[in-house]
Amino acid sequence: MNRGKKIVFLSHCILNANAKVEGLAAYPGAAGELITYLMDQGVGMLQLPCPEVDVLGVQRWGHVKNQLSHPFFIECCEKMLAPVVRQVEMYRNGGYQLIGVVGIDGSPCCGVKKTCASEKWAGDFLDPELTWKKVADLAWVKKPGIFMETFQKMLAGKHADLDFFSLDESDPTASVPRLIAALSQRIHRP
Ligand code: SF4
Repeated sequence: MNRGKKIVFLSHCILNANAKVEGLAAYPGAAGELITYLMDQGVGMLQLPCPEVDVLGVQRWGHVKNQLSHPFFIECCEKMLAPVVRQVEMYRNGGYQLIGVVGIDGSPCCGVKKTCASEKWAGDFLDPELTWKKVADLAWVKKPGIFMETFQKMLAGKHADLDFFSLDESDPTASVPRLIAALSQRIHRP
């Protein structure tokens, strides 16, 4: 059978929810409705690395973008993404249709249109009152997470820009149909 020559790049946890921060997974394994749609369309799926699992492990607390926006973490993201950027260039030069990247809105790393932020999210949880003040300071900001921001910069540096889409981890039920509609337009663009 001939290759479909269509490829999408997916945030790691779309195919493996076990990478999510404990308690945040919206499905037990993979985002079935989205994956089934992509399979039906003959789209190949390339799984991005999970920067949080790689650097912080599976027993991590939830983070905010402010915490992860430091030089060593960004350098780790660049190292993880370097082979992906090479593949983007290789497939594009080979005439493949690169549908784009699907990130996770709300994530401090993989958000595309929305990430979580707080300047006060630091320290320990020993004082409950202080902890609740820190929780109250958590906010969504309309910016990409640090991993996707790094990815976009690396792609721009190679003149290899891709379209970025997202699944909203705070509302997967509503966001998956919206995401599929947006991907459909991109997949069937003449
Ligand atoms: S959103 Fe990104 S960092 Fe968070 S679990 Fe998924 S792949 Fe890992």
